[in-house]
Amino acid sequence: MTDHATQRVEMDQLVSLCKRRGFVFQSSEIYGGLASCWDYGPLGVELKRNIKNAWWKAVVQSRDDMAGIETSIIMHPKVWEASGHVAGFHDPMVECKTCNQRWRATDLDTDICPQCGTKLSEPRQFNLMFKTFMGPVEDQSSIVYLRPETAQGMFVNFDNVLSTTRKKLPFGIAQIGKSFRNEITTGNFIFRTREFEQMEIEYFVKPGTDEQWFKYWVNERYSWYTKLGIKKEHLRLREHAKDELAHYAKRCFDVEFLFPIGWSECEGIANRSDFDLTQHAKFSGKSLTYFDEENGEHFIPYIIEPSAGVDRAALAFLTDAYDEDVADGEKRIVLRFHPAIAPVKVAVLPLSKKETLTPLAKEVYAEVRRCFATQYDDSQSIGRRYRRQDEIGTPFCVTIDFQSLEDKQVTIRDRDTMDQIRVPIQDVVGILSDKLNCE
Ligand code: ATP
Repeated sequence: MTDHATQRVEMDQLVSLCKRRGFVFQSSEIYGGLASCWDYGPLGVELKRNIKNAWWKAVVQSRDDMAGIETSIIMHPKVWEASGHVAGFHDPMVECKTCNQRWRATDLDTDICPQCGTKLSEPRQFNLMFKTFMGPVEDQSSIVYLRPETAQGMFVNFDNVLSTTRKKLPFGIAQIGKSFRNEITTGNFIFRTREFEQMEIEYFVKPGTDEQWFKYWVNERYSWYTKLGIKKEHLRLREHAKDELAHYAKRCFDVEFLFPIGWSECEGIANRSDFDLTQHAKFSGKSLTYFDEENGEHFIPYIIEPSAGVDRAALAFLTDAYDEDVADGEKRIVLRFHPAIAPVKVAVLPLSKKETLTPLAKEVYAEVRRCFATQYDDSQSIGRRYRRQDEIGTPFCVTIDFQSLEDKQVTIRDRDTMDQIRVPIQDVVGILSDKLNCE
């Protein structure tokens, strides 16, 4: 495998590959598109699902100290008062009165509109939560919000999860779901959108042990990306400076990835102290303490929060997987996805469309697809079909040729090395299992 660790793909190349191969389309494209909204196509939806499954498996299913949950997007309006979002979830923003563009004040180091050159307004607050009405009457009392993070659904269910799972501290709740933020500046493809998906953990710990668990989760989350193939040289941890921290946060690290737009946050891990449970206890009037049987103490747990974006992770995996090399004297685009992330694991390709080959090819296909996400393709030349599978990141192609009819053997081709091995049909699934075994 060639090492192209330092080669960086441009965002335009990714956007075009994603559209060409069915990973990501612009939302409402036939109407001219809607700014910052994207649709995941047939391969994109598999990619995202693989990312979410890998996360869920790592942080929920393979651990005894975690429980999953799925909470509603619309929550009681008081939740957002308690969390501070109604009052504080806004960024100071500057506006251009000529072209009506708005920017986060912190994103600009000038007071001149980058788009049209007019002097910008003074910074002012802008609420980032999407507002809507619940029920038939559109008045002040029916205002609800689309959640800007999945976290609050886990804080307010702390007691429900604790009592139904009978877990002891430390333990965590995990959730994957959509969040909405009326971001002022969007763009850069799926990096920053107004509707996005998060994978969040709220890990409850005894005060005093928080620093240790914070470090634990920073390491754990960093390794998750590298285990799934993200190159270490494209991933780094950055600690927030004191003046960057939210008022309740003790410490925060970002896991940053070298996106085509440069180093940017992929995930944040914060020590949120006892802020969240204290606030919800205050606003709801319910006690949200934990009883420590060992020493008969009641206390409010501290929370360590690793919060990741599914879309940003998808962009990171796409960026890191992208590579170009030469095959048969021609430029080849290849997505070198880790097998766990690849949308299609195996392609079954009869060498020709001739009827004599079809029954055996279909037999192999039926066998292989029982175990792995598999595509069958008998169109065009074999070379073009290999290129297509390389471009969508399929780790292995199984080719059935005329000799297969005689010797009951097929060829397995490796995406990265392009090496081919000939194996008995009866061993194909076993060999692929070994090769694809993702852990
Ligand atoms: P940023 O500084 O980039 O706006 P943030 O610090 O506000 O991000 P958090 O509130 O920590 O983000 O959200 C946790 C994760 O959710 C982020 O690391 C990111 O992966 C994802 N995320 C947040 N906002 C967006 C968005 N507008 N579009 C896509 N993903 C997002």
